Amino acid sequence: MSASTLAAPRASESRPKTMQAFVMRSLGKVGFLEKPVPQDPGPNGAIIKTTRALICTSDAHTVAGAIGDRTDLTLGHEAVGIVYKLGSEVQCVKEGDRVAVNAITPCYKCTNCLRGFTSQCTEMLGGWKFANIKDGVFAEYFHVNDAEANLALILRTVPDEKAVYTTDMMSTGFMGAEHANIPLGGSVAIFAQGPVGLMATVGARLLGAGLIIAVETVPKRKELAKHFGADVVIDFREKDPVQAILDLTGGEGVDSAIEALGSEVTFEACIKATRPGGTISNAGYHGHGDFLKIPRLAWGVGMGDKTIRTGLCPGGRERMQRLLRLLETGRVDPTPLTTHQFEFADLPKAFHLMETKEDGILKPLILF
Ligand SMILES: [Zn+2]
Ligand SMILES: [Zn+2]
Repeated sequence: MSASTLAAPRASESRPKTMQAFVMRSLGKVGFLEKPVPQDPGPNGAIIKTTRALICTSDAHTVAGAIGDRTDLTLGHEAVGIVYKLGSEVQCVKEGDRVAVNAITPCYKCTNCLRGFTSQCTEMLGGWKFANIKDGVFAEYFHVNDAEANLALILRTVPDEKAVYTTDMMSTGFMGAEHANIPLGGSVAIFAQGPVGLMATVGARLLGAGLIIAVETVPKRKELAKHFGADVVIDFREKDPVQAILDLTGGEGVDSAIEALGSEVTFEACIKATRPGGTISNAGYHGHGDFLKIPRLAWGVGMGDKTIRTGLCPGGRERMQRLLRLLETGRVDPTPLTTHQFEFADLPKAFHLMETKEDGILKPLILF
């Protein structure tokens, strides 16, 4: 298969000087702002012309103050696009290529990266740069650092609206399943079936789980959990999920539990629902309080051989290429997550829906 390539803009073509960007003006305030088009990728960087993006719950968290105040910072970290300008040292793609860029763009040079913990690039969670320490992707163009390691070519057979799911939802959800150490044929419980939880369900299925138990109460999400591979969906408003999981596993508990919400209650439930020697994989963002509690007895008073693993959306070209392959071969189709579609100009409307979670929204796709 050959790469999808569009003609690179000729030098004689007039290049736009300014662009629209959807920014966080300050805490709780968003809006459009005219910004200069980034012109210099630097030797190791790239500038991408955005084609499709997804809004993430974390964008709403950011505006609500999760990482402190920001002034006129471009939001967004889930996007695909076309290589507009490439740094002189970047060889993995060429200008005009269609590429996916993970939400996390590590440097692959620092000590944490070299030790294999690329999401913790330079410092804890430091791999997260878009809409955190640099402008994000909700703009007509965006800059990518360390492009050789962070640009993944999208094959022609994979449309942008599918590829864009590799940038966060697939990578994070699958990480939840990968970190859960699910034995082939083993049992796994996934707490919450938002976009990340649903992708964890897909990941668990791909990794060969024998019994997938999803915990969710929203009807549309329960339905999607089944669609994506859950064998049983427990509605926590109808019964206690921990008891239900114990009942389903002969009183033993599951081999693996995945926390995909970021709440104290589900974190504790994961520990209680996991058998001795099992693994608790945390994919949720815990945004409140100073501490999480570990239930002492369910943790075997500290001696239950229960492992707790954490992680942040793994990035990088090599992983992205593998995620894209799952789309190429049709193993995964994440597009049922796309509940809404908006033009870039309507991003404020989409963003508001994402903040309120009205209208059964899961992921709004933004067209540029
Ligand atoms: Zn995201
Ligand atoms: Zn690094």
